[in-house]
Amino acid sequence: MKLVQVWSHKDGDHLVIVNVPWWHQLAENTTNTLFCPCHGFTGWLSKKSDKVEGFFYSIWNNLIGKLYNHEKELFKVPIESACVASVAIYGDDGFCFRDNCEVHPQEPGE
Ligand SMILES: [Zn+2]
Repeated sequence: MKLVQVWSHKDGDHLVIVNVPWWHQLAENTTNTLFCPCHGFTGWLSKKSDKVEGFFYSIWNNLIGKLYNHEKELFKVPIESACVASVAIYGDDGFCFRDNCEVHPQEPGE
């Protein structure tokens, strides 16, 4: 299964096409549902204690890392702006990690 990804990295933005096994998305969703310390039951538990949060985070991080080992890079090309590309591909006009992004509107009052 081929996935189009947009990477924004310090060394430049890239458009990447990766090949992943068919179960990859399912495994990623399951891992996020079961172990991600930001969501659901684990999220609720993680709010109670930093130790619990750290515990789930290390499991989650480990599993996600293993999943990414199954990604095979097929194609990678530098692009001018990951923001422009992700809006074009995913229609994602919401959240952005960049400061002073010209593509993504900033939160009002910032
Ligand atoms: Zn942006």
